[in-house]
Amino acid sequence: MADGRRRIAVIGGGWAGCAAAVELARNGGKVTLFEAARTLGGRARQVKLDGQMLDNGQHILLGAYSETLRMLRQVGIDPNAALLRLPLQMRYPPATDGIEFIAPRLPAPLHLLLALWRARGLARGDKLALARFFSAARWMEWQLNADCSVAELLLRFEQTPRLIQLLWQPLCIAALNTPPERASARIFLRVLGDSLGARRAASDMLLPRLDLTSLFPQQAAMFIENRGGTVLRGVRVRKIEQDADGWQIEGMPFDAVVVATQASHAAALLDGLSDTGMLNALAHEAITTCYLRYGAGVRLVQPFFALRDEPACGKWGQYVFDRGQLDETQQGLLAVVVSVSDAAIAIGQQALSAAIAAQLANELQRPELATPEWTKVVSERRATFACMPLLARPDNSTGIDQLVLAGDYTRSDYPATLEAAVRSGVNAARLLLNLPSPRQYRVHESCA
Ligand SMILES: Cc1cc2nc3c(=O)[nH]c(=O)nc-3n(C[C@H](O)[C@H](O)[C@H](O)COP(=O)(O)OP(=O)(O)OC[C@H]3O[C@@H](n4cnc5c(N)ncnc54)[C@H](O)[C@@H]3O)c2cc1C
Repeated sequence: MADGRRRIAVIGGGWAGCAAAVELARNGGKVTLFEAARTLGGRARQVKLDGQMLDNGQHILLGAYSETLRMLRQVGIDPNAALLRLPLQMRYPPATDGIEFIAPRLPAPLHLLLALWRARGLARGDKLALARFFSAARWMEWQLNADCSVAELLLRFEQTPRLIQLLWQPLCIAALNTPPERASARIFLRVLGDSLGARRAASDMLLPRLDLTSLFPQQAAMFIENRGGTVLRGVRVRKIEQDADGWQIEGMPFDAVVVATQASHAAALLDGLSDTGMLNALAHEAITTCYLRYGAGVRLVQPFFALRDEPACGKWGQYVFDRGQLDETQQGLLAVVVSVSDAAIAIGQQALSAAIAAQLANELQRPELATPEWTKVVSERRATFACMPLLARPDNSTGIDQLVLAGDYTRSDYPATLEAAVRSGVNAARLLLNLPSPRQYRVHESCA
């Protein structure tokens, strides 16, 4: 403690590491943030693709992301300006025989009731099944003590094939990046409860207008530096060593350490110090984003649409975003998301972008979308951990004094999301600061 402040190393400058570092700096810690890459943000960052600055993947936030929104405000970002707030919706292009479900801006639960009443593309039986799901889930307080797969839950709640195909499957894949047959029903219900089961604003969908690095990590770095901390980009920590005075990292002494890397990297750093079994056991799922550039005049009638996810028919795209409606420098740029994308990756980038362009032209009834000027496919093979029932996730605490973990994979009721990462970062910081973690995101007992 050179100047009376605790020297704390945060290893990893993704959203978890940045959140931990901000929380520590805010509470008087002297923070050094190590990030292996030149750009902060980890799996939610800006990247250079063929000379263009884009995100490594389209991200959606929810109004329920309370801790992420608090963090943005903390570092000086106004969420109302930085995020486009849309009501909860699942809208397919009209020509696809899809559905249109939009929650109006009314107090909960009226917003859901009216959305259900007005929903297009759902028969009476579908609407009744959906109403039954909502009321049963509310009655259960959106909690499930005995976990099972989402597919099993939907069967138990007698959801119709059309609801499963056009509503639940796309929601499950978007929220958990795990297909319903393998996804945890308990975690899915928890996310639904925090959004659909809470006040109306919690169910809003928030689309970043800024690139992902500017949205939080870059501002977080300034916040840390303004409080006497240091942010080291392009520095990969190779080893963490404990000595009589604390910790040695890259030749610098520290009193405490937050390891905020991906789980597999944390396992490598903790090897020989702590049990790394749970870190190594996590399985992962991929997410692919296909960018397609057209003339600047090309615009969708709304910021995003759901697409028919039917790989057997060559339809790989699940959602399409009109980037020009989020950032005016990106006019004519569409981003198509494919979650759980191992099979899509296997067909090759060229075949995938051609199939997606054809799908857009067909589903949006816009022939010009079949021939983009430029395309780029970005795949994150280990985008998130596979969020399976009864998954054992490591705690923030490692059992070693002054060494904690942070990351979207640590034990919580949330899937791998920005909110899980930020909550984990704040929790890790609070453990080191001996402060209680905020009550609303303590882990539900049954998931231990
Ligand atoms: C394509 C894609 C789409 C997604 N969509 C959504 C979405 O719509 N909504 C949502 O909420 N979430 C989404 N996610 C998930 C979300 O991005 C992640 O949950 C979150 O970013 C994880 O943050 P993290 O800080 O836990 O980990 P990471 O972002 O992986 O950060 C770890 C950091 O540690 C660094 N590092 C590793 N080893 C070292 C070392 N030895 N020394 C120094 N640094 C090191 C890495 O470079 C990295 O920057 C998406 C993810 C992807 C990939």
